[in-house]
Amino acid sequence: RLGCVHVSSGDLFRKHQVEGTNTGKLVETYMRRGELVPDHVTIQMILQRVQENDCTNGYVLDGFPRTFAQAQALDKALHERREIVDVALYINVDQEELVRRLNGRLICRKCQTPFHEVTAPPSKFGVCDDCSGELYHREDDKPDAVRRRVQLYLEQTVPLLDYYRTQGKLREVNGQGSIDEVGHAMTLALAN
Ligand code: AMP
Repeated sequence: RLGCVHVSSGDLFRKHQVEGTNTGKLVETYMRRGELVPDHVTIQMILQRVQENDCTNGYVLDGFPRTFAQAQALDKALHERREIVDVALYINVDQEELVRRLNGRLICRKCQTPFHEVTAPPSKFGVCDDCSGELYHREDDKPDAVRRRVQLYLEQTVPLLDYYRTQGKLREVNGQGSIDEVGHAMTLALAN
């Protein structure tokens, strides 16, 4: 809808794993346990990705930055390229709902499209509607890893809300509704 690319740090790490690259091997244990991948690895991967040609008209970063060091590295790199972060979109969902969504989440091995067993099931069991790839439950959507991910989110990522708020860049949407409702709220939040 925005005419710009979706760049997800998690998707990029999962792609590295599928391709068996050194980065893929390095991040495997962190990801399985729901730990954050070290900043230098994550920052380098993202800054490299957003220099590719398809990003020249802008991009949406998803899952990045998650720490102060990442936010600062992003600002520094963008400053050098005479670019800025326009908006930081905060999709606010309470923890209970978050856990419910992750418990039932299925994603496509090939194209990473997410589904949910109850609220957004695929037309055909176990098969991606978009590319016919195989759907699976992410290892880090299991309860122990989810608990750790939520804990790290509260400790390391929530402080970034103030970082962007003080810069006047934070826009918040209520993420509790249906996919359509949240999508609509996001479109409105980005409209001006
Ligand atoms: P996600 O698909 O965004 O839920 O990310 C899945 C996993 O990839 C996370 O639990 C981390 O292990 C790793 N990861 C993704 N993005 C980052 C990031 N910005 N910083 C550190 N680790 C990340």
